[in-house]
Amino acid sequence: MSGATTGAEGGPAPGPVAALRRIAFLLERAREDTYKIKAFRSAAATVLPMSPDELAAAVTGATLTDLPGIGASSARVITDAWHGRVPERLARLEAEHAGPLVPGGRELRAALRGDLHSHSDWSDGGSPLEEMAFTALELGHDYLVLTDHSPRLTVAHGLSAERLARQLDVVDAVNDHLAAGGESGFRLLKGIEVDILDDGSLDQSEEMLSRLDVRVASVHSKLAMEPEPMTRRMVAAVAQPWTNVLGHCTGRLVTGNRGTRPGSRFDARAVFEACLEHDVAVEINSRPERRDPPTKLLELARDVGCLFSIDSDAHAPGQLDMLDHGCERAELAGIPAERIVNTWPVERLVSWADPGASSG
Ligand SMILES: [Zn+2]
Ligand SMILES: [Zn+2]
Repeated sequence: MSGATTGAEGGPAPGPVAALRRIAFLLERAREDTYKIKAFRSAAATVLPMSPDELAAAVTGATLTDLPGIGASSARVITDAWHGRVPERLARLEAEHAGPLVPGGRELRAALRGDLHSHSDWSDGGSPLEEMAFTALELGHDYLVLTDHSPRLTVAHGLSAERLARQLDVVDAVNDHLAAGGESGFRLLKGIEVDILDDGSLDQSEEMLSRLDVRVASVHSKLAMEPEPMTRRMVAAVAQPWTNVLGHCTGRLVTGNRGTRPGSRFDARAVFEACLEHDVAVEINSRPERRDPPTKLLELARDVGCLFSIDSDAHAPGQLDMLDHGCERAELAGIPAERIVNTWPVERLVSWADPGASSG
């Protein structure tokens, strides 16, 4: 498995599964309607386990649309790819959407080795965790940290300690599978996006937090708290020994179909100084609807001397590429690559994130 083509067929054109996955990836990257994207991903899931004979019979007999999850446009893609042609839909998307998402930050983007914030369908993401992992690998990452939500975020199907423990077994299985397939070195790391509770404590047991590689702590509730208690809450969360990254610190939404909302108000200097003191990275959340922290706060965190983590916060495989946006913002703010933890080798990152290890 290399590059973006992972289908069964060789040659210049991708096979049917690779073509469908690539179309879904490019649509997600372009932030297209999720319903349309789901159609291509479910078609890929239907084709994947079919034998070559079964697929040939369905293509030549024009019965693809009788199969579950395959509609007319997916069937056209499969048919073209099966015949060794680049599907027209795919060619169009490659031409329109495959380039860098933004002009800036290219050097920094090339220096990133992984991503510390991503979601699967175990919480509110749209794809299985293995699909997230395979896509991260295809993007050239050395690692992806899977950070599904914590229990109290019920709207996002936050994981109880029991479900998180089961997820960790699945992560082990995916890593074993990748290692057995000779996928040199890529690792799906264990993580969480843990809710910061009202008093600044974290919404998961110590026992489970201790079993993870990386923990992103974020505020998702009572964003409109008064500045003083919000500052206390965030400083307390940053001071927790398990916290590694402060996620989307203001919680603002600046655009997008979830509407907009102003950021939380807090003493940003106090919070960033706590991050510096406790060796917690300030997240540069790459989602265009967040652009969090806002530029003024980003520059303040830079001046305070904080570490940063440029995260995609991807809820679908194609959104893993959102890192482009965060890299452009970090470059504009003049943040040195050395202070961005996901430019570090994975061993250094994991050791930095482990409160039991000496910091690297
Ligand atoms: Zn979040
Ligand atoms: Zn998130």
